Amino acid sequence: MILGGIEAGGTKFLCLVADGDGVILAQERFPTRGPDETMAGVVAFFLRARDGGIGPDAIGIGTFGPVELRAGAGHGRIMATPKPGWEGTDLVGPLRDALDVPIALDTDVNAAALGEWRLGAARGLHTFIYMTVGTGIGAGALVGGRPMHGLVHPEMGHVSVPREPDDDFPGLCPFHGACFEGMASGSAVAARWGSPAEELDAATLARATDLEARYLAAGIRNLVYAIAPERVVIGGGIVNLPGLLPAVRRRLIELVGSYPGLPEHGQEAFVTMAGLGQDAGPRGTLVLAEMAATGAAPG
Ligand code: ZN
Repeated sequence: MILGGIEAGGTKFLCLVADGDGVILAQERFPTRGPDETMAGVVAFFLRARDGGIGPDAIGIGTFGPVELRAGAGHGRIMATPKPGWEGTDLVGPLRDALDVPIALDTDVNAAALGEWRLGAARGLHTFIYMTVGTGIGAGALVGGRPMHGLVHPEMGHVSVPREPDDDFPGLCPFHGACFEGMASGSAVAARWGSPAEELDAATLARATDLEARYLAAGIRNLVYAIAPERVVIGGGIVNLPGLLPAVRRRLIELVGSYPGLPEHGQEAFVTMAGLGQDAGPRGTLVLAEMAATGAAPG
């Protein structure tokens, strides 16, 4: 079986073709332009693959959002987005028309969760959260072995977190101000402290890391209680802050107190760094393609 994958990002698209063992046979990365031009480039990539004898039997798409995931006429369309021209763009129709193969689509973070499940830090788990903390905070989840969505995909970056007493930063979220993403994204760190974390002096970096750990733990606490994950896997640039993850774990233990008293919440593996880095999303699109081909959930 030949599987196709598309990681649709706000700044770049990655298209790839792999065999059933995950060996990459072809891939191409290009900047995200207008929707018509970008989708034409995607279709052209897979048509070239077909001409070369490696046409995909199914395609998985992990995309930026918000995106309509419900079955029906709007399935696969980008919803209200500040990205010019993209609102209403159909990510699935042009591919289906050109290639006539099964297509599965999910969010970029659910795709990354699937990648971590297949090859990374979430192998063997059925219910876990994948979170990326960078420009924003996005999170995907597998619940009972299935990527989680309902009325729409979860937007876990926008849960509420209590303001820390020593912090008067107003928050960056255009919708909520001081939500989780508004307070704890990499952009929020840079705005609060005046420069990106990697450019801060040692003393400021220590304070920034401590505060970031408290906010991350507060956000994760919400998700621990709402979704009951077996693990929280964190990717994105912020996890490289020295000492951050151990501080998150310590704070999370404080915040859950002794309730419900699970030893797992205190274990080092419970909050862990993503295993695949930038490859999680692309790898996950191939899992989505498998799901499209077989009609089965992965777990
Ligand atoms: Zn928000």
